[in-house]
Amino acid sequence: MSKRGASKLLEDPVSEAGLSFEVDVAPWLGNQAALFLLGGSGGELQQPSGAALVATTDIDATRAAIDKALAAQDPAIETTTETYEGVDYQLESDADTDQGAYICGEESALLDALEGKRGNPRLKPPFPANQGLYQGPTLINNVETLCNAPAIIGKGAEWFAAMGVDKSTGTKVVSVSGNVRRPGNYEVELGITAREIVEGIAGGPEDGRSVKCWFPGGSSAPVLLEEHLDLPYTFEAMAEAGSMLGSGAIIVVDDQQPIVPLALRLAEFYRHESCGKCVPCREGTNWTVKTLERIDEGEATPMDLEIMAEVQTNIIGNCLCVLGDSMAMPIGSMIKHFRPEFEEHIERARERRDREDIPAFGAGELAAAAGAGPA
Ligand code: SF4
Repeated sequence: MSKRGASKLLEDPVSEAGLSFEVDVAPWLGNQAALFLLGGSGGELQQPSGAALVATTDIDATRAAIDKALAAQDPAIETTTETYEGVDYQLESDADTDQGAYICGEESALLDALEGKRGNPRLKPPFPANQGLYQGPTLINNVETLCNAPAIIGKGAEWFAAMGVDKSTGTKVVSVSGNVRRPGNYEVELGITAREIVEGIAGGPEDGRSVKCWFPGGSSAPVLLEEHLDLPYTFEAMAEAGSMLGSGAIIVVDDQQPIVPLALRLAEFYRHESCGKCVPCREGTNWTVKTLERIDEGEATPMDLEIMAEVQTNIIGNCLCVLGDSMAMPIGSMIKHFRPEFEEHIERARERRDREDIPAFGAGELAAAAGAGPA
């Protein structure tokens, strides 16, 4: 049985391929979930059973799996054995649950969590292909890739590569959220324009509003502007524009949204999710939140904006995993694209604070201060 709840635009390629591919759920991991297989290509497994963890966007299946796991009070949801039609191979699979931390989308943190430890990224090397789950060779891939595998095996690589453009072949499940009329998950052929996705498929912002900026590949991607919507939605075009296609989670921000609260919310999230293992991420995310709070509360000066921009460049590339960069890249891009708005926010917040400070003095204190004359 195939569950491709995300597939709204294309026919279900998995079932067309005539293969049986059971997709079970670990929905709390969202698109950060990974499927991992134990054992080498030679077939001898490192553990008594192979293990697989996959996710789907099928909401009914998701809900059923959550209910089942909660009812059982057991992290292991189920074990299945699948026989693939036409392939003399049996795959035993376990679906496992996790604590749901964002960092568990990082492969080595996911492995630690599956071993029952706190989900912290590991130092690499060794890489999981050499020493992964319980120190055994472990192949990790994202769910979407593995969901495509049966169709590619069944129909051939040429069939898949005929879709898309350049090196961005095939399809992509995009998850469009934010200020659009039809948020949802859509499977699209790579190479269509981002505008077709945001304004066509997802309906764009409400009447009278326009796209202020958008995240092409999740909240960790640098933001792009309205003018970038006419670019083809491909890995290459997004990278050339200064961002990344990433997870395909497109977040749309309309022109009614102020940029400072958006940046603050995003930084708070990454501060909360940082595992704290390395300094640039642990301190950088905290610093960024505190600076944005100062900006919003009228305590910042333009110099704080410069320092905050510099903090982002010092985080990027200096962390153990990409979570630090995941905050620094979008925040840095917001400062780059919306610096005048940040500066105006600083100025207005300071004026507001100054106005609010005046009544804080009692009339008597003000009179005494005036009567005291210059010191
Ligand atoms: S970058 Fe952040 S989440 Fe990743 S290891 Fe360092 S502190 Fe932990």
